[in-house]
Amino acid sequence: MGDMLSADEQIAKRGKPVMRPDQPVERAVRVLVFDDDPERKPRLYVCTGCGSGHSPAIYACRDEEAHRAARSAAENCYTCKTHNQCQDCGAQCDKHWLVCPGCRLKRMLAKREHVAADSFDYCFSLEGDGFYGSALEAAEAGEQWVCPAEPLRTFSLDAESILDSLLEDHFEDASWHDLDGTQDLLEAIDRFNKAQKQGSYDRDEKRVCFVGDLAPANDDAEEACSSGPCDAKRTEERE
Ligand SMILES: [Zn+2]
Ligand SMILES: [Zn+2]
Repeated sequence: MGDMLSADEQIAKRGKPVMRPDQPVERAVRVLVFDDDPERKPRLYVCTGCGSGHSPAIYACRDEEAHRAARSAAENCYTCKTHNQCQDCGAQCDKHWLVCPGCRLKRMLAKREHVAADSFDYCFSLEGDGFYGSALEAAEAGEQWVCPAEPLRTFSLDAESILDSLLEDHFEDASWHDLDGTQDLLEAIDRFNKAQKQGSYDRDEKRVCFVGDLAPANDDAEEACSSGPCDAKRTEERE
């Protein structure tokens, strides 16, 4: 604690941040103490870049650890940070992410089942903002990868939630037993549900498909595609 300065001393030395040579300091940190504290106990670790303070009092752990955490938070000030280094490839990336966009894509692709382009019709862009009638349509729209759609989820009424919401609005303990004609309603709802032909497609987030080699002239696809078979396929498409 010998190298701690009082708040007044630090203000006097403004511009010369307090640094501990024995620690790998990433950003200069100022340590504030109470002026009338004879023990000079550090109260706040301050980032010299932006002036934001980090108090050890907010960490629910042993005193020593809390001080280390607060100091580290000031040293690695998030406000002053301009970027992160990708955990996978080491490239610079946005500070809000631990991994760069390219490596995020690789990680995501590694977790999914890769399926053939002719194994589905409807599909989505990976971000979910594009919807296509086929893998080829997606490729022609410039997509490299698509997420196949799950089977059509048709319009459907949920009898249980309809009856529950009806009962909620009545006396306590009201139950299905207090209702008449329930069976007829259930059968009618069932018939209604079975009659539905339309509805929505959802993304099947367990599967993915590379479509970048389906579009006839897509230069980006050439780079994304690693080897020969893609060129052969593209030639077939052109003929
Ligand atoms: Zn800062
Ligand atoms: Zn990366």
